[in-house]
Amino acid sequence: MTRWIILTLSLLAVQAFAYGPLGHEIVGAIADRKLAGTSTAEKIKTLLDGIPLERASLIADDIKSWDKNGPDDRRGIHFLAHPAIEQQLRDFWKANPPGPDASDTTPSHHWMHYTDVPVLDAEKYGDGKTGRGNWDVVHTIPYCIGVLRGEIAENNPRKITKTIAVILLAHCIGDIHQPLHVGAEYFNEAGEPIDPDRGVTGLGDEGGNALSLVHNATAERPRHYYHSFHAYWDLDTVRNLTIGTPDEVPKAERESVYALAKEKLIANFVANEPKNWRTPGDPKAWAEQCFCKGRSTRNWDRLSRLVNRRRRR
Ligand SMILES: [Zn+2]
Repeated sequence: MTRWIILTLSLLAVQAFAYGPLGHEIVGAIADRKLAGTSTAEKIKTLLDGIPLERASLIADDIKSWDKNGPDDRRGIHFLAHPAIEQQLRDFWKANPPGPDASDTTPSHHWMHYTDVPVLDAEKYGDGKTGRGNWDVVHTIPYCIGVLRGEIAENNPRKITKTIAVILLAHCIGDIHQPLHVGAEYFNEAGEPIDPDRGVTGLGDEGGNALSLVHNATAERPRHYYHSFHAYWDLDTVRNLTIGTPDEVPKAERESVYALAKEKLIANFVANEPKNWRTPGDPKAWAEQCFCKGRSTRNWDRLSRLVNRRRRR
């Protein structure tokens, strides 16, 4: 089953654009449709209590709404219609709480979404130490596969049950293809990019979270201000490349326009598999291969152009 989940989720992530809710839903929806009618779909249905992967792909982000007041606060996003899943999510959140005390033995669930490997010199995951960790996205994906295969007990210290493993995979396969989820730039005090794995220390941009981006600043109406470069890539690249900027669609029509564009994209990927998307070998090794894809696709080229443009300003 594991292989099919990963295969199917990877199908879209190779070429489309995941990461914000819209992108994650698209990845999950394609997996739902590719798996429909298979025994794997039945197993997922049982594990997720009928929640489709399209919706489940958002849950790893949804539980961040518990970060401020804890999972007992009713104001966050909850799954009360699925009490067993709600309980497992609470246990998972409590075993991996966010905050300053996060450590290798008690990691933050946030860490499982990314790496901060330096972008300078286009390092591979195994090339250095900076920005990697035992609970980053490259380690979390094979861990989840281990749980689904029964190699790791469900009652593990991270409280990643089979259900949580599917929830995390449905999300992380999208995240690992987002360039800013697999790379960060580091700067010295003069603001020059440095490679922290080569003996120099500096400040990282946290995958673009520490950078502000003003898009189209010289236009007559400089409307687009993104609070972070990371958020721009998570959210707006998906919209801009598939649907158009929100400003191009009247507010009242946005929901239906987005739904139509999303459906068209999903149907297209279900009908036309991208070439060379299949990854050979053991699925446990795929996270590291996906890491490289996230950093070497045309997404990454586009990111480099944006960063260079920023530097010239
Ligand atoms: Zn994420």
